[in-house]
Amino acid sequence: MNRLDLHLHTNRSDGSFTPTQVLELAHEAGVTALAITDHDIMMGIPEATLVGQQLGIEVIPGIEISSNFGDSELHMLGYFLDWQDVRLNERLSTLRESRHRRNPQIIERLQSLGIDITYDEVRALAGTDSVGRPHIARVLMEKHVVASAKEAFDRFFANGKPAYVPRDLPSPAEAIQWIKAAKGLAVLAHPTWVKTTEGTLTDLVRQLKADGLNGVEVHYSTHTARQTREYLTLAKQVGLLVTGGSDFHGLTKPDIEVGIGRGTLHIPYSLLHKLKDAAAQL
Ligand SMILES: [Zn+2]
Ligand SMILES: [Zn+2]
Repeated sequence: MNRLDLHLHTNRSDGSFTPTQVLELAHEAGVTALAITDHDIMMGIPEATLVGQQLGIEVIPGIEISSNFGDSELHMLGYFLDWQDVRLNERLSTLRESRHRRNPQIIERLQSLGIDITYDEVRALAGTDSVGRPHIARVLMEKHVVASAKEAFDRFFANGKPAYVPRDLPSPAEAIQWIKAAKGLAVLAHPTWVKTTEGTLTDLVRQLKADGLNGVEVHYSTHTARQTREYLTLAKQVGLLVTGGSDFHGLTKPDIEVGIGRGTLHIPYSLLHKLKDAAAQL
């Protein structure tokens, strides 16, 4: 059986495995087409493409851009984009700089809570230019301050918690425009995490479609069967493409596996053809 997985992170952002290792895991899982969607960085794509050619796996260039949405974030996936697009790479580099400014502030707050942690430790563990809160969480885990990344977010990083520091992010419409300007398809990631404060999710998705959105990530590791059906209906109603992915991060999210999520994820291979047709028309 050919498997598909359109949402994967490598150690170029906050995943724990190299692009080569992620491709090897995908190969073992029977995945024959995938997208690398690192946060705010596209530097894992060339290595993944090369290894994909050796293993017979189709690698679709991807990205996941965080955008500002009220008190929370909304994640926008991009597919089939030109990963060498100069303007998009400049925009992403500015986003990463804003993380670099925020990370030391988070560390200071943790230190003021009496936690023994330095930014040097976090950067050494990350070993990449795209350093974020998941890396800080991993250092906290190594120091046994928390047992999981989720606990680090719930106790320290989330809005209203003692180490919360806001970040300069584009609006959802801007994130869509950035992806489209690099000839990509823009897809709303994991709708289960979208916290709508006004109106329904359908209202929001209609607005995003007016802003240029192409699709919704219907199939996702933590979506229940009921949510999957709901989001499928939503995509049909609004007239959007359907995508799916595991959001594999390796050791950062140890319960999620490439291609199958928590074991029950099934992403229909047929949706790839529709995505390709839409990408060809861009
Ligand atoms: Zn995300
Ligand atoms: Zn992700």
